[in-house]
Amino acid sequence: MQQSKVFSIIEKEQKRQNEDIELIASENFVSEDVMKAVGSCLTNKYTEGYPGNRYYGGCVYYDELENYCRQKWQEVFKTDYHVNVQPHSGSSANLAAYMTLLKPGDTILSMSLTNGGHLTHGSSVNFSGKLFNFVFYDVDGNGFIDYEDVARKAREYRPALILAGASAYSRIIDFRRFSDIARSVGAYLMVDMAHIAGLVAGGEHPSPFGLADIISTTTHKTLRGPRGGMVFCRPEYAKKLDSAVFPGTQGGSLMHVIAGKAVAAEEALRPEFKQYIQAVVRNTKAMCGRFIELGYSVVTGGTDNHLFLVDLSKTHPNVSGKLAQDVLCEHGITLNKNCVPNDARGPKETSGVRIGCAAMTTKGYNEKDFIAVADRINEIISAL
Ligand code: PLP
Repeated sequence: MQQSKVFSIIEKEQKRQNEDIELIASENFVSEDVMKAVGSCLTNKYTEGYPGNRYYGGCVYYDELENYCRQKWQEVFKTDYHVNVQPHSGSSANLAAYMTLLKPGDTILSMSLTNGGHLTHGSSVNFSGKLFNFVFYDVDGNGFIDYEDVARKAREYRPALILAGASAYSRIIDFRRFSDIARSVGAYLMVDMAHIAGLVAGGEHPSPFGLADIISTTTHKTLRGPRGGMVFCRPEYAKKLDSAVFPGTQGGSLMHVIAGKAVAAEEALRPEFKQYIQAVVRNTKAMCGRFIELGYSVVTGGTDNHLFLVDLSKTHPNVSGKLAQDVLCEHGITLNKNCVPNDARGPKETSGVRIGCAAMTTKGYNEKDFIAVADRINEIISAL
C-alpha cells in the first residue's frame, strides 16, 4: 500500500526542526512521551461533558485521565484553584474565561496588541474586540507597564475585568499591583499567563495564584506541553467556568491532547524542569546582553523572562522586522517580526523582532551558544 503523502511532508518538517535555530518565543519542543500521548488511540473517542457526567458511553478511562490531568496541574502550580483542561487553545481558553465572569458588552481593561498584548486581548479583528468593550492601558516611554496608567484608566472606565498578561513583554508583571487596582474599582482580575506559565511553574516568575480570579494559559509555550489551553479559577467560579467551556464555547474535548497535557504536568513536576526554566532565564539574559553590547536597542533595556524585543529602528532604520524575519529564515534562524512601542511601521512590517530562548534551551543550548547566535544575527542584519 502506498504511504500517505503527508508523511513525506512531516519528514521534511522534522528535518527543518532538527537543523534550524528556533527563536520564536511562543514555541518549544515536546518530549517523546508527550508526542506518544497526543498520537495515541485517545483521539478516537467522544467525551462531551466532564468526569462522572458524560454524554457518551465508554468514558471510564477518560474520566480517570481527565481527573488525573487536573490534579497534576494543581500540583504544578501548588494551588487549590479549580482547573479546566479542555480548552483547545489559548484563544478558546480566553473566550471561556471571559464568558465565565462577564456578559457580552462588558468593559475589559487590557494591554493592546501593539504594546505586547494578544489578539484575544481586545483586537478589533478578533472575537474579543467584537464581543466586549475593550479599553487599553499603556506602557511607559521605556516599554514598562505603566501601573499609574492602569490605575487611572481603571478609575476612569470602571471595567468589569482587568486583564494582565502579554505575548511580547519581557519584564516581571506585578500581579499584586494589578490585584490591588482591580480590587479598588470592584473589577475581576484575570491573568493570561500563556507565555510565562513555565516560569511560574519553575519559580522564576511570581505566581498569580491567590491574586487573580481567573487564570488562562496555553500549554505549548514555556510549559513545553502539547498545543492547547487551560483555565484556572477560584473554586467559587468552578461551575460557571466548566459550563463556559462545555457547552458554552466548545463541543467534544480532545482527550489525546489532554493526555499530552497530563504527561507535560508530570514532567513539570520533576526537578529537571526547574533547572530547565532557570537555564531559559539565564540564556535569555545572556543573548539579550550580547545584543546590547553590539549596540542594539532592546525594549525596556533588558529582560526578566524567556524573551526580549529588539528595536531595529534605532540601529538599522532601513531594516523592518519583516525583512529581518525573512532574511534570517533563509539562513535557518526562525524568529518573528514584532511591533515595538510607538512603532512607526504597522503590524505587517514592524520595526522590531521578538526573540525567545525556551525552544533552543530544550535542545541543550547554553549561554555561549546563544551569544554566538546573537553574533550571527548581527552579521546577517548588518549586511542588509
Ligand atoms: N494568550 C497569549 C498571551 C498568547 O501569547 C497566545 C498565543 O500566542 C494566546 C493567548 C493564544 O493561544 P493560541 O494560539 O493557542 O490560541
